Amino acid sequence: MSFSLPLDSLVCQTSHCPDFHASGRDNIRLRKVYGPEQRRLLRCRTCGAHFSETKGTPYWGSKLPPERVDSIVDHLTHGNCCSSTAELTGCHRTTVARIMRQAGVHLQQFHDQHARDLKVTSMQADERHSFFGKKAEQAWDFTVVDPKSNFVIEGQVGARTAELTRVLLGSAKERLAAPQSLVLSTDGYLPYQSLFSELFGSVWQPPRRGKRGRFPKKAYRIPRSLAHVRIIKEYSGRRVVEVRTEVAAGTQKRVNQELQTLGYTTPNTSAVERQNGTARRMNPHLARKSLAFARLPFHASHVGCVGSGRL
Ligand SMILES: [Zn+2]
Repeated sequence: MSFSLPLDSLVCQTSHCPDFHASGRDNIRLRKVYGPEQRRLLRCRTCGAHFSETKGTPYWGSKLPPERVDSIVDHLTHGNCCSSTAELTGCHRTTVARIMRQAGVHLQQFHDQHARDLKVTSMQADERHSFFGKKAEQAWDFTVVDPKSNFVIEGQVGARTAELTRVLLGSAKERLAAPQSLVLSTDGYLPYQSLFSELFGSVWQPPRRGKRGRFPKKAYRIPRSLAHVRIIKEYSGRRVVEVRTEVAAGTQKRVNQELQTLGYTTPNTSAVERQNGTARRMNPHLARKSLAFARLPFHASHVGCVGSGRL
């Protein structure tokens, strides 16, 4: 690990500070250098708190040398589970689990801080499942990817419900510079369809007929720059027999325009499906058709760690 990160890239770690986790505020100053690792003690000018530059990272509170911590994180992100990482690095598996959790929280904070004002004109969303505890208990990872750069915009872990889909699309929208100019590609999962109009469209109150009675239900208007396309797979048993596409919101013209930009001939979710494959390869508990699923309680933090940057 290098401790020479520029001061303006570091943020205040005090939760009650107005500049908590906020970058670019010019509030961090060097107080002194301490310890055998020559770590820097920092001071926040806004709240006056002192903290180590390692606070909030996996190096914080660890008696292991930084190289061992790096090695543990490297093993975990290259397809090893807690037990095999513990075996390979000579640490106890609870140490590995703690470092994994701290790294995940840190990654999530880093993503929240930096993945803002993204200039993205199309997104692909998909869900993948694994198991937790036993094969009857499914754990779902929802992911939103930018197909142009393959950047993971947002990820959520939980049950496959409309509420989690709402959180996913809502959080992804907040990260965009222009959410009104977007083509969303998803599979046939129905909540995407209703939530897209609600979250990205504008509310419109249709006029009532005559002067009496209730107003009709509020509707959502979709601007011409927005579109949602569904890629619906028809199955016969476990085999896909037909794939059809449906423009669920917006116009075919807008979809065609985005396909041309991406170099696609038909609408698809290939980028997010490729990401699913990568996540399954890099996280042993996401492997399909195996008994490597997350069986033990401390495995819970491993489900979805690679896909969403969340442990
Ligand atoms: Zn502060």
